[in-house]
Amino acid sequence: MSRRVLRRGEVLFCEHDSGKVAYLIEQGSVRVSIRREGEPLVLADLSSGDLVGEMAVIDDAPRTATATALEDTLLLVIDREHLAERIAQTDPVVRALLGGQLKRYRSMLAAVQGLEAPDAGAKVHEDVAAIAKIRLESQLREALERRELEMHLQPLFEIPQQRVAGYEALIRWRHPERGPISPAEFIALAEETSLIVPVGEYMLHEAIAALVAMRKRGMEPLPFVSINVSPRQLREARLIEQLLVWLKEADLPTSAVKLEITESQVLDYGLVSELLGKCRAHGIRVALDDFGTGFSNLSHLRELAFDTVKIDQAFVRDIETAPRAIAMLEAIVALVQAIGADALVEGIESQTQLDVLQRLGCRYAQGYLIGKPIPLAQVLEGR
Ligand code: C2E
Ligand code: CA
Ligand code: CA
Repeated sequence: MSRRVLRRGEVLFCEHDSGKVAYLIEQGSVRVSIRREGEPLVLADLSSGDLVGEMAVIDDAPRTATATALEDTLLLVIDREHLAERIAQTDPVVRALLGGQLKRYRSMLAAVQGLEAPDAGAKVHEDVAAIAKIRLESQLREALERRELEMHLQPLFEIPQQRVAGYEALIRWRHPERGPISPAEFIALAEETSLIVPVGEYMLHEAIAALVAMRKRGMEPLPFVSINVSPRQLREARLIEQLLVWLKEADLPTSAVKLEITESQVLDYGLVSELLGKCRAHGIRVALDDFGTGFSNLSHLRELAFDTVKIDQAFVRDIETAPRAIAMLEAIVALVQAIGADALVEGIESQTQLDVLQRLGCRYAQGYLIGKPIPLAQVLEGR
């Protein structure tokens, strides 16, 4: 980073100059002003620690004001690329907010100067996407308040017993305009904000209510309900406490629920092992979800004692035709069993696939062959 020294009264840049760099004031002070009806109008006096000239660098427009040193001043020069890189890394919503504010400020300045507002231009694609995201997020918030989110249950088949031993709770959202939206889309959105916390709590609550209804319906032995927990929720200390309170209120055993944690990049060892410890102490089982995709990390299996490992459906997809696929599935199931966990394979759509699992001694199977996710009412009717 280079430096620049200005003498008192020296001009740093003028209105309409092109702005390739911004400055951080190290020592001294700078006056930012515009001309209005021929007279200078002071916008700000900036001093040590302030940025100057950053606007033009952010939106690549010409300078809208003139900057003059009020005393001998030392500046750090900040390259356009340096700022642009950081801005590119931020959340698109934050970028859209920044861009919007800047545009508004510029047209206000133009109005003060009696000039025509700079061309607002066509909305860039990114802006549109960011706004769509803000809209979807607020609709999700509303859906949550209006209880428009629904829980569906997908059967988990216990192979040696040849029975449905439990259900996975999967969230559903029927958007008023767009129809059903995939949880893959809106859960990711909720995870970017704290919205995942109330959404997750809602699902916990629905899962408990489902268990109560199943018990009332006389389902014996009572199936367990497996609930997806996002990494972000793990930071909420009260997750397990809340769950324990609700289980107790409903007079349900802790073995009636299971938690699923997705194997992801952000799997925080500290948080997950704390959760595992708490769950173990209370008899709540925990599954590692989506094992074998994306961020597969064998050290997760070594360091963290999950009760169940859910092997991703990618491993059964072409099991009928690809010998390598069978070999891999076999090895993964053996690995899971060797560390004393139960293996569950997801995405079972054919009898052949189920037969393979049975031969491998895999404990659970989940997939359309056994049953699709359905509303609680249908689970109860099936009795
Ligand atoms: P997941 O936890 O891996 O859930 C299994 C997904 O596979 C579900 O998709 C399910 O409908 C689908 N599936 C089940 N059997 C089959 C099959 O035989 N073939 C195929 N092709 N697909 C099958 P869904 O419901 O769209 O959920 C997608 C993801 O969204 C879930 O993946 C989970 O990561 C997330 N999710 C869903 N509900 C919740 C929730 O309440 N909380 C959180 N944090 N995440 C959730
Ligand atoms: Ca899951
Ligand atoms: Ca999964």
